[in-house]
Amino acid sequence: MSQTPLYPLRFEPIYQYRLWGGRRLANLLSAPLPNDGPFGEAWILSDREDHASRVANGSLQGQTIHQVMEQFQEPLMGELAHRFRRFPLLLKFLDAREMLSVQVHPGYVHAGVPPAGKTAKTEAWVVLEAGKESRIDAGLKPGTTADILRQSITNGTLAEHLVSITPKPGDGIFIPAGTVHSLGGDVVVFEIQQNSDVTFRLYDWGHIDAKTGRPRELEVDQALACIDFLDGAAGLVTPVVEERTPVERARLFQCEPFRLWRLRGQSPFTVGAELAPRVLVCVEGTGQVEHNGDTYVVQKGEVWVLPAVVGVCIFRPNNIVSLLEIAIPKEPGSGQRRVGRQG
Ligand SMILES: [Zn+2]
Repeated sequence: MSQTPLYPLRFEPIYQYRLWGGRRLANLLSAPLPNDGPFGEAWILSDREDHASRVANGSLQGQTIHQVMEQFQEPLMGELAHRFRRFPLLLKFLDAREMLSVQVHPGYVHAGVPPAGKTAKTEAWVVLEAGKESRIDAGLKPGTTADILRQSITNGTLAEHLVSITPKPGDGIFIPAGTVHSLGGDVVVFEIQQNSDVTFRLYDWGHIDAKTGRPRELEVDQALACIDFLDGAAGLVTPVVEERTPVERARLFQCEPFRLWRLRGQSPFTVGAELAPRVLVCVEGTGQVEHNGDTYVVQKGEVWVLPAVVGVCIFRPNNIVSLLEIAIPKEPGSGQRRVGRQG
C-alpha cells in the first residue's frame, strides 16, 4: 500500500515593506519583523513566483507551496486537482497605520483587463484590530460617475464619494472585483484574495514614499475602466451562524473563489473536509490539530493547510480560540449580500 507523505502543513510568513504600514504585525505573528521599517503586509500563504510561501514543518520543510502543488496535486487538492496550476488564494495580514491608496482590481468582464495571463481579483477582509481613527472605504456612494470621480481626484475630494465604514474587530468586508476600496487609520485585517497582482491605483492621498521621496504613480484611466459603478455586493457582511456547539461557526464570505467561516470556542471541534483542501488561520488563542495519531501545535498568527487527503480532523483548543477556516468551492457559490452599517 502506498503511503502518502502529506500532513497538515504550516507555512512561514513573508513580510513586506509598505510606506503605509506599521509595527503591529509583530504582535500577531511569532516570526520577528526583519528590521525597524514599516511593515504593511505579511503574506501568510502565497503561491506567486516572486514571493513563494515555504513549508515550516515536517518532512516537506523548506519546499514552496508550488513545489507541493506540483508533486502532490491530487492528495493536496482532492476533487479540485488539475483545476489550478497555482494555489488559487493569496492570504495576508495587513497593518494599515496610514490610509492605503484608493484602488480597484479588475474582474473578468472588463475588455482587455485583466491583461492576458492574469486573473481577476476579488478580495475580502476580516477586521482583527481597530482604533478610533480606523476607516474602511468599500464602494462608491450612489450616483457617483466616472466624471465625478475624475474631477474629485483632481481637486482632492475623492473621499466624499466613497462609502466609509467604521470597522470593529470581527467585521467581514467583501470587496468584489471592480470595487473601489481603501483602509487605514491603524487597522489590522486578515485579507483573502484571488491569487493575482493586478491593482490599479486611483488616488494616494498625497502620500510621499520615504524610500523614493516621490509620490507613487496613479493609473486613473485603467482604474476607471474597471470600476463597477453599481457594486451592490460590496461592503460589510452579515455573518451567517451555521452552528453554535461545540464551536460557533459563522460564515462570513461565500463567493465563487472562496468561502470563509469564523470559528470561535474552547471545546474540541472538527476542521477540514473530505476530498478538498482547507486552510486554517489562527487569529486568537492556541490549540492542536490531531491527525493520524500526531498532534500539530497551532499558534496565533499561523496559517495551516489541511491537504484533501488529511480530511476531517479534530481541533483541540487550549483556551478560547478563534480560527478562520477557508474552502475553495467546487461549484460557484450563491451571491454575497451586504448590510448597511456605515459610519
Ligand atoms: Zn485591494
